Amino acid sequence: MIWNEEFETLPREALEAIQLKRLKHLVERVYGFVQPYRQKMDEAGVRPEDIKTLSDLAKLPFTTKDDLRDNYPFGLFAVPFEQVVRVHASSGTTGKPTVVGYTRRDIETWADLMARTLSAGGAGRGDVVHNAYGYGLFTGGLGAHYGAERLGATVVPISGGNTKRQVMIMQDFGSTVLCSTPSYALNIAEVMEEMKVAPESLKLRVGFHGAEPWSENMRDEIEKKLGIDALDIYGLSEVMGPGVACECLEAKKGLHVFEDCFIPEIIDPDTFQPLPPGQKGELVFTTIKKEAFPVIRYRTKDITRLIADPCPCGRTFYRIERLSGRTDDMLIIRGVNVFPSQVEHVLMGVDEVEPHYQIVVDRKGTLDVMEVQVEVNERIFSDEVKKLEKVSKHIEKEIKEMLGVSCTVKLVEPKTIQRSEGKAKRVIDNRKL
Ligand SMILES: [Zn+2]
Repeated sequence: MIWNEEFETLPREALEAIQLKRLKHLVERVYGFVQPYRQKMDEAGVRPEDIKTLSDLAKLPFTTKDDLRDNYPFGLFAVPFEQVVRVHASSGTTGKPTVVGYTRRDIETWADLMARTLSAGGAGRGDVVHNAYGYGLFTGGLGAHYGAERLGATVVPISGGNTKRQVMIMQDFGSTVLCSTPSYALNIAEVMEEMKVAPESLKLRVGFHGAEPWSENMRDEIEKKLGIDALDIYGLSEVMGPGVACECLEAKKGLHVFEDCFIPEIIDPDTFQPLPPGQKGELVFTTIKKEAFPVIRYRTKDITRLIADPCPCGRTFYRIERLSGRTDDMLIIRGVNVFPSQVEHVLMGVDEVEPHYQIVVDRKGTLDVMEVQVEVNERIFSDEVKKLEKVSKHIEKEIKEMLGVSCTVKLVEPKTIQRSEGKAKRVIDNRKL
């Protein structure tokens, strides 16, 4: 089902006319109101009146996570602060999170886009939406929540955790739609097996899974174990949150980008030149409808390609292929973005260890586990075990506080972590997705 027939099936020409109009308006607005954007545009020698066609987008400077960090927390907001009705945040690359804001109209736009997403999987009025995305600063919970309400469905705002209780509630409330990370969907399936709850005894029909990369194999497993259609959804807080792109039930192949609100580009990550549909590169977004926190050419670091082929569902929006990696070293652990630089930041603040470390990630059953191996310094190495234990517990606590993800810390002898000649290999990811 198509939620917003008018926009989601626009002929290309009409869509591009809307995009250009919105882009011009955006550029004028940020140039006039957001000093860091104006400064970057001045440095690049481009002014709002230079944007005459959609291809002029390529003249504008990129925005990166560093820009968000440099202007922490509210420096890139494009409306007076009293118009901001909500903020969300995600992991930054170091100590401070990345903060984004929404006006009342942004929240409405977001709800509409999530309603489109859920509609694309056949959800609607009468459905019971079991929303296991985390509520809080993370955009997942409230993003899906508002979309489901907009749809007229019944929302169960259960958030994550306490999986046995989740299964019980799904049974008792007759949940028909599951919103969760793909790994949590598998976790639920596993707990159902333990509880001897057969998928047929639930009314679940479709799942919307995002916030972490997953594969076709994982889709098969989720679909088989839960007896549902499992769809991939995409979003990131810097661009809006969930609801930037979604698969449709008809094709289950590639995610339609809501191009009336976001202009996607694929760039060559080395030359930064835009690439045509079909070619693989880094995904870049310009938000053309957001008021409080628009971004111009935001580099997501996600690698994919654009699919311009028509889709059997009738939507005319281009699709992005399922993500196939990143251009940076960001890890996604249980749906949370983790940068090795954040771990390093914590370790640098601990006297007893050296900044030689490695992060080992694995998947035990359906859960991601992270171990941080770090060298202790010579001075402490000879100390008693008790003291070492205290140090590792301290680091575990600090990392949990900073990243919002628990890990185990393993202290290793001085000079045992392999030294590299070039870029240090900080991450060993043993997860097989
Ligand atoms: Zn489609």
